[in-house]
This record gives sequence, structure tokens and C-alpha cells, in this order.
Amino acid sequence: MNAPRIDIDGSARVQELLQSLLPSKDIGSFVGGRVLPGTGETVELVDPATGQVFLTYADAGPAVIDAAMDVAQQAQARWLAMTPSARGRIMWEIGRLLREHAPAIAELETRSAGQPIRDTRGLVGKVAEMFEYYAGWCDKLHGEVIPVPTSHFNYTRREPYGVVVQITPWNAPLFTAGWQIAPAICAGNAVVLKPSELTPLTSLVLGALCERAGVPEGLVNVIAGVGRTSGQYAVAHPATRLVVFVGSAAAGSAIAATAARKVVPCILELGGKSGNIVFADGDLDRAVVGAQAAIFAGAGQSCVAGSRLLVQQSVHGEFVEKLARASERIPVGSPLDDRTQIGPIHNRQQWTKIDEMVWQGVSDGARLAIGGCRPAALEATGGFYYAPTILDRVDPAMEIAREEVFGPVLAVTPFEDEAEAIAIANGTPYGLAGAVWTENVGRAHRVAAQVRAGTFWINSYKTITVMSPFGGFGQSGYGRSSGKEALMAYTQTKSVWVETAENPPVVFGYHPAE
Ligand code: NAD
Repeated sequence: MNAPRIDIDGSARVQELLQSLLPSKDIGSFVGGRVLPGTGETVELVDPATGQVFLTYADAGPAVIDAAMDVAQQAQARWLAMTPSARGRIMWEIGRLLREHAPAIAELETRSAGQPIRDTRGLVGKVAEMFEYYAGWCDKLHGEVIPVPTSHFNYTRREPYGVVVQITPWNAPLFTAGWQIAPAICAGNAVVLKPSELTPLTSLVLGALCERAGVPEGLVNVIAGVGRTSGQYAVAHPATRLVVFVGSAAAGSAIAATAARKVVPCILELGGKSGNIVFADGDLDRAVVGAQAAIFAGAGQSCVAGSRLLVQQSVHGEFVEKLARASERIPVGSPLDDRTQIGPIHNRQQWTKIDEMVWQGVSDGARLAIGGCRPAALEATGGFYYAPTILDRVDPAMEIAREEVFGPVLAVTPFEDEAEAIAIANGTPYGLAGAVWTENVGRAHRVAAQVRAGTFWINSYKTITVMSPFGGFGQSGYGRSSGKEALMAYTQTKSVWVETAENPPVVFGYHPAE
């Protein structure tokens, strides 16, 4: 067996993980238990902490995707032939293997995606939880008996779609892959996952771990490929029965359009511009910490980032001052350093987009409180670092208040009263998440009910678990991932009618109503 060619500054345990799971000297797609090399354009993987290319591979191309679709269909039949309990035991084993290999997987994610190691260590455990949670659902997913007013016995079955194509983004690649693979296979589907071409490595590892745990070869396939070529080809493939997309609104709508032409349903998990609302009657010290976690965790490269901070006018000046001083102290640096809380931006293009949006905000009239640059101490690394940035006195009509930045950039807007706070929070086309900080219990629930968002926190931010449904309103997407609702999304309902009468009447047309 040859070692994979990963020239990234070597870690023995990462090399060992890759060698044991992906038996190929080059990176390719994981299809039916084998690594298949691509045939398309060359893709470069860049280390976000140094700006250096550490690996190249070829875009998968049609032949690899055809092969994945073929093995996926066969594997799904073998998966469904197992008992639900046996499937559950295998899913539990995936969780166990993730925990066993957690240090190496976390390190690989940190090296290739730039997420701080203190975050990725926790995230591998969260992905294990996803498989463990759905392991328990495998033998509990069933239909209902409906007391129809005829002589029939009528029941429903929850049936899998078949082959599900999943397309995921470069932020939190392992987390997103587990988040979608676990409910998909629990519901009896096969998966062809195409992670971002910029971060395929931990998704490839997860695909291989699923097989090691015992899923049939070809049940979980991972395509190392480019979105507009391999991604589009997979979505349009005749074997695709459901498309699940996590990423930007622009790509999501292109994918949904392709799927719609084939009458294939889609689940879209898109971006956001979530409003974090602080009232003067809130616990302001906790809200200062909450506001930092909301926007600066993951360097703001998070779909639920609290990127708009709405602060009640009477405490606005004092609050922003405290927040700015605290945010300047957040450790920014190498993602492999245990102390780092803000790592690099994932890629050069995204860094440039962030910088341009910040300075457009300043030229539109916002006040730059802190940041707006690469931290001077990290200049020599060549990494894509961006300092925590706060723009104050942002008008809700400005681009910086309406468009997703996907970086460590907070837009602060003061408000007078509850009605104005809700109106500003609802003032963008997005609706992914939001939060309110107040000690007034009635106000907390009034605001939670009126803000248009799929997830809302009261005196908290960013708590997410696999048990609770997650998804967007408006341009943040449709369909739900995680929780019981994901199983509904990954299955379709069949209604079965059984005639039970001895001499049933033959009715042409509808049975008469009672
Ligand atoms: P992106 O939309 O550019 O890419 C996401 C995926 O889509 C990648 O795998 C890419 O290869 C593929 N893709 C791109 N164009 C395609 C096309 N025309 N056809 C088929 N596939 C295509 O997003 P990104 O820049 O990788 O990630 C950042 C975005 O993801 C942000 O907008 C963020 O908010 C969003 N996101 C949303 C959630 C959520 O759950 N709502 C979670 C994480 C990230």
C-alpha cells in the first residue's frame, strides 16, 4: 500500500490515518471502497495558515460519478436487506471509530480547513454524537395506522429516497458531512457526498470510516471534485433521488434549478445575516461574551454567525466599548496552537472579500471601532488571518448590514425600542438564526416569536445539537436537518390501503363521505 502524497508539514498520526483508510498514493474520490483518481482540472489545496499549496488532485469527472451512482444503488439494496437494529449497531460503531481516531481527525481538519485545534477536537465528538443519535433511530422509524372511514386498513410507510447527493461547503467540512450522512443512512438511503473541492480530506476519511464500521461498500461515497463540474453532474444524474445542499444562496439556487428540471426535491441550508439583539435590561456582561462567541468563533466563517449586533440606544456606547476592548484580547494565531481562538480565513479569495466589504462599510459611513486588517504580528506567516473587526453605527440599509461577510466582522446598529429591534432583525432576506439578551421573560418570548429565523436563542448563542431541528427561513433555505425532522426530510411517505371487508362494495370513483 502506498502512502498518500500529503506534503503538508508532517504529522505522523495524520499520515497514519490517511494511509490506513485511503489506500492510494494520490487523493481521489472514495467510491465503493476504493480511491478513484479524477480526470478533470487540477485542484490545489492551500494551507490557510501559510498560504502554501500542500496538495493537488484532479477533479473527479463524469466517469467517477457514474461509478459512484452505480455502486450506491447496489449498496442501498444491501443496506435495506439488513435489519434496522443491525444498521443501528453499525452506525453506533461509526461513532466509536470517530472517537477512537479523534486526535488524528481533528488535526487533519485543523491543517486542511484552518479551524483552531481546540474547536476541531470538540467537533469530532459532535460528529460521533450524530451517528450515535441516529443509531438509536434506526429501529424506531416507522409509519402510522390511520382510522379511515371505509372498510380498509390504511397504514403509512416511511421509505428512503434511494441515492442522495449531498454538497457541502469549506467551513466545518467534517461536521457538515456527518450532519448530513448520519440521518441519510439512518433513513435507509445511500449517499454520494461532494464536499467543497477546497476541503475534501476529512470527508474522505469519514466515508472510509463508515465502511470500516460495516456499512456495505458503496453506501457512502465521497467525490473529490469541483462544484460547477462534478457537483452539477451529480445533481443532474438520472440516479439522484434527493439533493441536499449546504452552502451559499447563489450556488444553492443554481443547484435547485438543476434538480427542479429533473423534478428532484432539494433541501437547502444556505447563508445568514443573523441579528443578535441586546436590550438594556439584559445581563450585559454575559451578553458581551455572547456577542464575541456569536461572531468571532470560527473566525466568523459560520452560517449562524451573529454578524449583526443590535444594541439598545441607552447602553449602546458603553456596550460597544466593553465589547471592543474584550475582542481585541481574543487570541488570533496558528490553528494548531492550543491557545488560538481565531484561526485564519480559509482562503485568499474569502480574505479579500472580507476586507473589501469592511472598507465598503467604512466608506458607506460606518465607524471602524477595531480591526479591518491582517494582524501585524501574523504578517510574516503568509496565512490568511483577519483581525476581529467591529463596525459601529451601521445603518440597516448598508451592504455590511444586509450581505453575509463570512468573516470575523460585526456590524453594530443601535435601536430605541422592541418594535424597532424586531423590524431591523427582520430587515434582510435571510432568516437562519438570531438571539435576544434580556431579563424580561415576556419580552424574550415575544421577540423569539417575531424574529423570522429557523433557530433562535434567548440569553445564549450558537448552542446546536443533533437532537434539535436546524434550517432556514427565507433565503437561508428550506427543509430541516438534524433531529427527528431530518428523518422526515430524508424519507418519503407511502400510504397503503388494504381492503378488509368480506364482500367489499365495488365503488367507482370516491367512497361517499360519512
Ligand atoms: P459555496 O456555495 O461556494 O459552495 C458550497 C458547495 O457547493 C461546494 O461543495 C461547491 O463545490 C459546491 N458548488 C458551488 N457552486 C456549485 C454549482 N454551480 N453547482 C454545484 N455545486 C456547486 O459555499 P462555500 O463558499 O463553500 O461556503 C460558504 C457558504 O456556505 C456561506 O454562504 C455559508 O453561510 C454557507 N453555509 C450554510 C450552512 C447552513 O447550514 N445553512 C452551513 C455552513 C455553511
